[in-house]
Amino acid sequence: MHEELEKLKINKNRIELLNQMHIFTIEDLLKHYPYRYEIIEKTLPSHDSDKIIIDGCVIDNCKVFFKGRMSRMSFQIESDDKVYNVTIFNRHFLRTHIKIGSVVTVIGKCKNNRITASDVKLKSLSELSGIQPIYSLKDITTKSFQGYIQKALKYVSGEVDDFVVEELRIKHHLIHKELALHNIHFPQTKEDLSQALRYLKYEEFLKFQLTMQFVKSQRLLEVGIKKDFDIKKLNQMIASLPFQLTIDQQSAVKDIIRDLRSPHMMYRFLQGDVGSGKTVVCAIGLYANYLAGYQGALMAPTEILAKQHYETLKKLFQDTDIKIGLLTGSLTVKEKEILYQKLLDQSVDIIIGTHALFQDKVVYKRLGFVITDEQHRFGVEQRKALKDKGKQVDFLIMSATPIPRTLAISMYGDMEVSTIRTKPKGRIKTITKYIQSTSMKPILNHLKQYLSENGQCYVICPLVDESENLNAKNASQIAHAMQAYFKDQYKIGLLHGQMKDEDKEAVMNDFAMNKIQILVSTTVVEVGVDVTNANMMVIYNAERFGMSQLHQLRGRVGRGQKQSYCYLLSDATNEEAIDRLKHLEESDDGFEISYYDLKMRGPGEILGQRQSGLPTFILADVFKDFDLLDISRKDASLMIERYQKDGSYQTQIENIKRELQSHNEYID
Ligand code: ADP
Ligand code: MG
Repeated sequence: MHEELEKLKINKNRIELLNQMHIFTIEDLLKHYPYRYEIIEKTLPSHDSDKIIIDGCVIDNCKVFFKGRMSRMSFQIESDDKVYNVTIFNRHFLRTHIKIGSVVTVIGKCKNNRITASDVKLKSLSELSGIQPIYSLKDITTKSFQGYIQKALKYVSGEVDDFVVEELRIKHHLIHKELALHNIHFPQTKEDLSQALRYLKYEEFLKFQLTMQFVKSQRLLEVGIKKDFDIKKLNQMIASLPFQLTIDQQSAVKDIIRDLRSPHMMYRFLQGDVGSGKTVVCAIGLYANYLAGYQGALMAPTEILAKQHYETLKKLFQDTDIKIGLLTGSLTVKEKEILYQKLLDQSVDIIIGTHALFQDKVVYKRLGFVITDEQHRFGVEQRKALKDKGKQVDFLIMSATPIPRTLAISMYGDMEVSTIRTKPKGRIKTITKYIQSTSMKPILNHLKQYLSENGQCYVICPLVDESENLNAKNASQIAHAMQAYFKDQYKIGLLHGQMKDEDKEAVMNDFAMNKIQILVSTTVVEVGVDVTNANMMVIYNAERFGMSQLHQLRGRVGRGQKQSYCYLLSDATNEEAIDRLKHLEESDDGFEISYYDLKMRGPGEILGQRQSGLPTFILADVFKDFDLLDISRKDASLMIERYQKDGSYQTQIENIKRELQSHNEYID
């Protein structure tokens, strides 16, 4: 399977073309699956589709009308004793073949016996019937590509091992891999196809689950640090908080404490909607870690957010003698040196910062606990760098794009999951309105009224690509226009990704201090920032954002005691886009929203494919095939248990490492 294409005696320049399609080995070739199939079988319109595929006998002479170079041809056919009027555009060249008495197959849409055909074939259905695979190909015809596949299948014939062990294959009624590979390319029936898909999807999931769980089982074998601390002191700290923890916060805290005290390393995923109170939970964990005599690190995706966490923790820990440091890129060299020294001699207990926390220069004396915020922004590389800082360090990842627990367990199979589902009581729901407009006109009165009552407002403009100047300009145009409109009455600020960190910081600070009343921004405000006096948000071109992202943005308002508003401006005409925006008017539940979003756009886009460590499944779909995903998860854990019992664990790891080239980023 891993052999080069040369083995198939394919013409050299053909091989070059295949290489351009990232096909280098026989395995690559066989894995270049059709992206869809055209199924030609008799189809009659039903209540939910007007699609029709029938054959019949032509019963009148066809008529052709021309309009410029366009043509319209119509004729009648009789099929199963019914007469249909068929119309097809731009196929006048078929006219000589459509004669009374000839048999044709018509593919198209049907309404009241009138068919608008997309295709007319000069054969009967029985001659045509079958499943035609459609490939994405570059300068190679389907026919020659299928020829190469034939060669490849012949070459590997009898040599394809089932990745799925016999026992599971039988248990799930799966066919052999060799047959699956054959049938995915050359299905004779729908049943062939669905069996092939089932095997291949299951295999994809199983590989993924095995990798995740091997990583997990290896971690469980490593001895971590068992942390001892005075639980009374911890409880005192919890009791001194200005509020009572919610039930979900309590159970997340329990999970974390249990992990810290256990001899295993923590590798936990803490998810909760914006504003659900994850920060306090982390702070409690950091405090416990401190009481045990260890340093803790909290990594945030942006400086602004790091700074904010720093302020929050300083406040939370004001009655303790815990020492907190903030490490960001904007410190002077001198300040950094001092901080590094403090980390080295443990005169700083908790350090908060951006990626800067894990540069080579930074050395910790006794790092015991690392927390990262908004994990989908951290790549695999960073995770590694961080792991290398301290051996056996407990590790917690926070995410504000929550997904249903069952899915989280399957997708983050190498981690434990804690979920904060309910928000603290007493929050006032943000009023969200979708406005069909490209400008602020329809809401201008409300905005003016709101500002006159000393409110502050966010105005968000979309950013398609971080490196794209275009949208930053868009934001600045809007800022200028607004400043021109409000003149000296209100101050407008501008924030976008191309600005220097210190400038961003300055603008955010001015907004926080109400020196700026309207902050026009790209999504850089998405995470974190907490300005309780800002209770209105206007989002331009809302259709260009994902739902989870809009929800996240909206989370910036409604942090205080006042009623807050979020306006979603959009001139989208696409029904799906409008549906999504309307859904946000109704729903305030981040779990539900991300689920809706994930289903519609796929996890890659929302959670960030490579970054989140989520795999790319070629065929399988974590939503449509969730049952299979769940089955594979259970199977994988049984398999690993068995390998551990029968002593084959190490050999199996080696085997699987080799087999799992495509998922190798998970294995150190
Ligand atoms: P998240 O990080 O999950 O978005 P935060 O930790 O920033 O949420 O919490 C949002 C706000 O709710 C903060 O101002 C915090 O002080 C407050 N908060 C957290 N937990 C509770 C609670 N149990 N009861 C009341 N307020 C809480
Ligand atoms: Mg937060």
